[in-house]
Amino acid sequence: MMIETSSFFDIHKTETSRINQVDFDNLEFGRVFSDHMFLMEYENGEWMRGKIEPYGPFTMSPASMVFHYGQAIFEGMKAYRLADGGVSIFRPGKNIERFNLSAKRMCMPEVPEEIFMEALATLVELDKEWVPNGDEASLYIRPFMIATDSYVGVKASEKYAFSIFTCPVGAYYKGNVNVKVERKYTRATPGGTGYAKAAGNYAGSLYPSRLAREEGFDQLIWTDAIEHEYIEESGTMNAMFVLNGGLVSPATSDTILNGVTRDSVLTIARDLGINVDIRKVAVSELRSGLESGSITEAFGVGTAATIKPIAEIGIDGIHYPLKHVDNPKSIANQLLKELDGIRRGKIEDRHAWNIPV
Ligand SMILES: *Cc1c(COP(=O)(O)O)cnc(C)c1O
Repeated sequence: MMIETSSFFDIHKTETSRINQVDFDNLEFGRVFSDHMFLMEYENGEWMRGKIEPYGPFTMSPASMVFHYGQAIFEGMKAYRLADGGVSIFRPGKNIERFNLSAKRMCMPEVPEEIFMEALATLVELDKEWVPNGDEASLYIRPFMIATDSYVGVKASEKYAFSIFTCPVGAYYKGNVNVKVERKYTRATPGGTGYAKAAGNYAGSLYPSRLAREEGFDQLIWTDAIEHEYIEESGTMNAMFVLNGGLVSPATSDTILNGVTRDSVLTIARDLGINVDIRKVAVSELRSGLESGSITEAFGVGTAATIKPIAEIGIDGIHYPLKHVDNPKSIANQLLKELDGIRRGKIEDRHAWNIPV
């Protein structure tokens, strides 16, 4: 086993790569894990020296605080295979910034940006062969942090583990998505943790999502916790609508996750001369826009699914189809083409979003 070192961590490479066991033409999202992972532990008020080692299980005490009190946060970003064969990570600085915002909200230690960035770049470089080729394929990168102190009692843990692993992935959704506007259950409340990528937010969303699936929907669009009248976002995607040819998206707040894809798509829309309107979107406005035909497209934007056109929206039991869902010239498709072209090095990276490894 070869051991190399960086200034912050040691590198133990695997002797037996699993890459030949992978069917890269049929990748199921999130089920295949690359050869290596990063791990770094925090105790006595500081981060210990980290390591990159073969991907594998952790051993943990049953009293580890994450199992009981839920201090757990994560991130999701992607590395892409470029047209020239190279590999780059898309806007990792944004994810690091948001990770540390989530850490702060959950009383967890921040990870120094320099260490985080070096860990990402080294891990992706080491498993470069795992970055797939193909239209919807990429290497999904999952950093996360958990509370590891063995202690019974509600307080912030004194020990943490920060880890990163990666997954070669294909498309997140296969086919069109139907969404339900949720008017009973709540994902996030003002003053709560909705703006953080904190594990508990997702646990709480599962039951309403299951009910929606039983009604035949793939996803929810959440509304505000107080009136259930203003559109917030979808499960792991921010929401966008095309109204009279312009792009409309709810403003972010402490109940809406500030998506990197959202920011990228809004920037590209402005670049392409599309009118962008960031404001509250009422369910009543959505309904009347769908009835009158002034709303022609709706889509979710997020790292995992990229830009996902919505085929049908359910509001209070009525199903509204979206006209342009399969139109190759739709605004969603124009934006996707531009974003994807930039990420894959086919269109000039005019905002310096790609970080080559
Ligand atoms: C991760 C996530 C998004 C999308 O954020 P990206 O940075 O674009 O991946 C949107 N909403 C929620 C709730 C999320 O967890």
